[in-house]
Amino acid sequence: MSRIIKLPEDVANRIAAGEVVERPASVVKELVENSLDADAHYIEISLKRGGKELVQVSDDGEGMSPDDVLLAVQRHATSKISSAEDLNAISTFGFRGEALPSIASVSLLEIISRQRNSDTAFRILIDNGEILEQGEISAQPGTTITTTKLFDKIPARKRFLKSDTSELSRCNDVIIRLALANPDVSFRVESDGRETIYLTSCAEYIERIGQIFDDEVLEKLQKIHYESGEYSVFGFVGNRTIHRARSSDEYFFLNGRPIKSGLLTASLHKAFSGLLPPKRYPVAFVYIESPPELVDVNVHPAKTEVRFRREEAVFGAVYHAISDAIGGPAPAKTIKPLEFAPQKAARQTELDFPQVKRPFPGRKIVPHTLDIEREISEAIGNIAAEPHTQRTVEPMPDFLQILDTYIVARTRDGMLIIDQHAAHERVLFEKVMKAIETEAFSGQRLLFPVEIKLLPQWTVILAKFLKKFSAIGFEVEISSSDRAVLHSVPSFLKSGDYSTVFREILQEISEFDIDAPDVFKNFAATVACRAAIKAGQKLSQDDMGALFDSLFACEDPFHCPHGRPTIVKFSREQLEKMFGRT
Ligand code: ADP
Ligand code: MG
Repeated sequence: MSRIIKLPEDVANRIAAGEVVERPASVVKELVENSLDADAHYIEISLKRGGKELVQVSDDGEGMSPDDVLLAVQRHATSKISSAEDLNAISTFGFRGEALPSIASVSLLEIISRQRNSDTAFRILIDNGEILEQGEISAQPGTTITTTKLFDKIPARKRFLKSDTSELSRCNDVIIRLALANPDVSFRVESDGRETIYLTSCAEYIERIGQIFDDEVLEKLQKIHYESGEYSVFGFVGNRTIHRARSSDEYFFLNGRPIKSGLLTASLHKAFSGLLPPKRYPVAFVYIESPPELVDVNVHPAKTEVRFRREEAVFGAVYHAISDAIGGPAPAKTIKPLEFAPQKAARQTELDFPQVKRPFPGRKIVPHTLDIEREISEAIGNIAAEPHTQRTVEPMPDFLQILDTYIVARTRDGMLIIDQHAAHERVLFEKVMKAIETEAFSGQRLLFPVEIKLLPQWTVILAKFLKKFSAIGFEVEISSSDRAVLHSVPSFLKSGDYSTVFREILQEISEFDIDAPDVFKNFAATVACRAAIKAGQKLSQDDMGALFDSLFACEDPFHCPHGRPTIVKFSREQLEKMFGRT
């Protein structure tokens, strides 16, 4: 009994045309969507080299008859719609009948399928569109589709693919989005022979979110809900204490389908405007239910973009759902930079401001020009020559900490103000870069190893950076598909919550373009930023002295790894000018 039909030409012509197979992740998406449409409860995905060498998707769905298997690989053959009217109310992932033939035309594709009520399975092997083999075979009920040699015959497309790591994280992203939309389905992912994702079926969306993300995310999620009559919105958004450098953790689902939508993104960002630091993005899981006829998914061949028929209504519904949950005034800041309230200790230091210790030549200096850099560099030559121990025997304090954030140092010609975080970032950045280059291990072993729950995108990052992490002192062991154990940490990391620092590093790195040529530099900058002294942290004279010395031992003491200044200088001349003395 054949269920798949070839769509009549007039229907086929109304389907958004275009290429659906761009990269391994698109193959994963189309195959997993087919499994979901086939009512699968368990889906297993196997990848090699980020899907470039192998994408295999197995399901326990309803399967296909031999006739259906043969029809499935023909263009515009589908079991999901039959008329043009059906296009107005689509409730399945697929409807175009184009995915399998497209994939079959650019790879070596094998389909093995057995219907639930049938005794035997049918197999077909297609090489770049040409049927090589077909016939009965024994297999479990369900469908297994295997793609190898993707784009082997189209070198131009193959060249366009990114690194294995980058392709793998795209595949994972597709899987995670589909898994978040379908919590009742179990997913298992294997990458290069290792299990990387395993999600058992669950009853609630929040449970599925909890399987994928860690407690830190879960604790910060707030429920959202809004009914607009036409559209119903529910889900979860992170509060204002959790945010990302990219919009990668903004998830939208429409009637169980992961979607991208500029309209919904704008609504989400509007609801969060003013609540997050600049250029940071929220974490959000927004599920929208709508009558199928109020949305059009036939806009884009990959069906990730949709058109809402009542744009204002859906925009408003999402906005209200979120702002009702997170609205309200921002919490009071702990540091008020403009407040002038010298503390006791600080005043004391001010009075006792010491002898000139670190002399700088009394010459005209304009901050942040090459001139100042050269001149200070010369001066630092003198300082570096000074034995470091000399300062510790000095009874008077050398430095003054202001607002627990800036260090003021007196010089022969005026004064320097150092941003303690930026300065420490620079110091650690150069240290980490050196450690990466020399692969010199410098970790301190933890008495009690720390277990860390890995988000799927972190697993990919960790695998790629494992050697680099170990080079700087993070000895990490991946213990299961979503766990790692931290055995040692870099010696420059001050005692504290190592697990948080490590997770912050993983999260930030997972937001990079992994194929960028300066990825290791970004890695080092991230580690430095996360491990550095924070603004608002009190420092002792020794801390400040050590920081000062190591800053000026750096190749570029004047900028943090992100290019912001670490030091601002006020020369005598500038001070005199400011006070109208000249
Ligand atoms: P579409 O999903 O748009 O219908 P596809 O080319 O993806 O088009 O699939 C063609 C047809 O093959 C589907 O309509 C479905 O009937 C059948 N099919 C594909 N994958 C599976 C699967 N995993 N289990 C059962 N049937 C499948
Ligand atoms: Mg399909």
